[in-house]
Amino acid sequence: MKLTSFEVNGKATYGVVEGEHVIDLLSLSESCSKGLPQSVQQGIESGEEFLREAAELLKIARSENASASHIYSLEEINWLPPIPFVKRNIMCVGKNYREHAIEMGSEKDIPENIMIFTKATTTVTGHEQKVPVHDKVTSELDYEGELAVVIGRQGKGITPDEAMNHVFGYTIVNDLTARDLQKKHGQFFIGKSLDSTCPIGPYIVTKDEIDTPQLLTIKTWINGEVRQSSSTDLMIFKIPDIISTLSKGMTLEPGDIIATGTPAGVGKGFNPPRFLKAGDLVEIEVEGIGILTNQLQ
Ligand code: MG
Repeated sequence: MKLTSFEVNGKATYGVVEGEHVIDLLSLSESCSKGLPQSVQQGIESGEEFLREAAELLKIARSENASASHIYSLEEINWLPPIPFVKRNIMCVGKNYREHAIEMGSEKDIPENIMIFTKATTTVTGHEQKVPVHDKVTSELDYEGELAVVIGRQGKGITPDEAMNHVFGYTIVNDLTARDLQKKHGQFFIGKSLDSTCPIGPYIVTKDEIDTPQLLTIKTWINGEVRQSSSTDLMIFKIPDIISTLSKGMTLEPGDIIATGTPAGVGKGFNPPRFLKAGDLVEIEVEGIGILTNQLQ
């Protein structure tokens, strides 16, 4: 199931993407007098029951008797982030691909332990939303295409063996980074937290549709030119390790989003560096999920 939030006719709602259409689950649920949660976040918190109810509604939507009024073409909608109001910062793994760690410095930059930083909640934006280039505060805005994991079940002290049971699904994140601010301020927070520098989407794919999250191709294009081309099997720290390490002393909550790190090919890795400018189109594809597209302005 490909779940996302969106706006249509000036109203925010959420639904399921099927091919070139999206089925508005919220309005369908209201018209059938079913009590579906009011948001994707609440749905994730409701767990399996939500997915069962959503699947039932999708059957109704696909049936011949269904009113087409709950189904929209993707061209009619304004994409929102799958979870428009995240409850806390996006958690991100730094330098989780060997070749990327080396392009950021040298072999010495390959981490021995998982490196985690976060991006402020105000960074979150959706598929096809314009991203400001922030040229008054940075001259080195850079892209980072990443696979992201969405937590479904609360947990603390999660072992690597149990970790995948806590996953709700997967999405794509562009961990946009102001390299000059990242370097200047020591900690990554400022350089990683400029407004709207965390496009997420286009949707969350539930985990039942991704059998091998650790074996997916990941690609980034800038204005149609391939810059990153890798596979999630090259992560240094795999998803179960990341979840286990993060949850050792901190409770992970439903709706938490963890970006798993970017492969080689970021703008800073080129000589001379190739940072983003207004008008640039960034497209990030993760196999089995889709393509996240944003233009800089
Ligand atoms: Mg990153």
